[in-house]
Amino acid sequence: MADSIISQSIRVSGVVQGVGFRPFVWRLARELGLDGWVRNDSRGVEIEVSGAAEQVRSLIERIEREAPPLARVNSIVARDTTRETKGGGFVIIDSRSGRAATMLGHDTAICRDCLGEMFDPGNRRWRYAFTNCTNCGPRYTISRGLPYDRVRTSLKPFPMCARCQGEYRQPNDRRFHAEASCCPKCGPQLFLLDGEGHRLPGDPIAGTLDLLKAGKIVAIKGLGGFHLACDARNAVAVAVLRERKQRDEKPFVVMLANAPSAAPFVQMGVGEPGLLTLGTRPAILLRKRSTSDSNLPGVAPGLAWLGVMLPYTPIQFLLFHEAAKRPPGIGWL
Ligand SMILES: [Zn+2]
Ligand SMILES: [Zn+2]
Repeated sequence: MADSIISQSIRVSGVVQGVGFRPFVWRLARELGLDGWVRNDSRGVEIEVSGAAEQVRSLIERIEREAPPLARVNSIVARDTTRETKGGGFVIIDSRSGRAATMLGHDTAICRDCLGEMFDPGNRRWRYAFTNCTNCGPRYTISRGLPYDRVRTSLKPFPMCARCQGEYRQPNDRRFHAEASCCPKCGPQLFLLDGEGHRLPGDPIAGTLDLLKAGKIVAIKGLGGFHLACDARNAVAVAVLRERKQRDEKPFVVMLANAPSAAPFVQMGVGEPGLLTLGTRPAILLRKRSTSDSNLPGVAPGLAWLGVMLPYTPIQFLLFHEAAKRPPGIGWL
């Protein structure tokens, strides 16, 4: 006997926006042959489906079990509805706004797939400082409200070009419904400004690296603010930064290209390299080696510990890439 057809309204709450949740539900529903829709609203994600009872149950189970890596499902509530969506296929529909009571994914380090594109000389996002996808990049920082849609992000003034729109609409693409997706043609551009705010000519990444190497201090825009950066091996630059920040003794954090680069400066226990590469890229305090202070003069004076962090924004990776003389691929990382 054929399975009975049911219609259900399903509400998912938790960290479910800006984490690729709607495309994930869309793929599952299509795979299970269900009809209906999914959308973001101010309370999370709302789904309506019609289909075989067995498949609807399977959808709910798999939403919980297979949720995208950056998502956190707090609850799934399903109830029967008389609204039939049978026959129309399954679609992602426009968000419904209201008083926000949902959680947005947090800012996440650029993923390996995006790094692969950014360092592939043949890719259209080669060396593009705002590369991101459904699995990575800024969320909280660029969000201006909920539900999480491009019009409520700082990408609003940058309409997607035809190719970015193609990726946004392509279910098998990692940028399917990636609200912050952009490229060199349609997205924001990087600038290097002098102390008076005048734009400096030339490549902004190469220019920034030259300044750092020359012992200058550069304010580098990151997620949620600026990092004041200088060459940590340059005692004079570090001293000038201390003076300007009026930080006589407070330790600075050192950014390194990867975990193995930290070996000459600090001792690492089992598990600590893993902490450095968490998606949130925390700064970790690690025990200094005896040579640390002579290699990094004045960075963390009088302390047994050194704060270390790895790059997480495209700009930070691009600076290391530039220092490595722009090698193709991500093997150098
Ligand atoms: Zn990515
Ligand atoms: Zn584009």
